[in-house]
Amino acid sequence: MSEQPRTAVPRLVVTQDNEFWFIAARQGRLEIQRCADCHTLRHPPAPACASCRSLSWDSVQASGKATLHSFTVIHHPRDAAFGYPLLVGLADLEEGTRLVADITGIDRDELAIGMELEVAFAEHPHGETLPQLRKPGSAA
Ligand SMILES: [Zn+2]
Repeated sequence: MSEQPRTAVPRLVVTQDNEFWFIAARQGRLEIQRCADCHTLRHPPAPACASCRSLSWDSVQASGKATLHSFTVIHHPRDAAFGYPLLVGLADLEEGTRLVADITGIDRDELAIGMELEVAFAEHPHGETLPQLRKPGSAA
């Protein structure tokens, strides 16, 4: 059986509002946007604070500690650029925001809501380095 050709994965849309997050990810850091006025954390990045409407913000570096809030197992539609089944998790970060990311190195049958995870980084076919969720202390 021959391998299917890789398809073109759409490039991610990087804007002035989320560029800081992608730059940090390329450097292996998970940043969380923080309102500079009321200090509310928010993710995904947005131009204004949903709590106080301030346009001023900075960011804090996440610890990478997370727990699995929910997950899905994607079987279809298949794109040759990804491996299937594709495990995608919604994780509660220690800091209080949530992150959607691929789950790596964990079998579907091992996944359990509330299990401890950590954030690692990997380059994707579209050329961006993005966070992944894995078991704490597992090899990259
Ligand atoms: Zn605010």
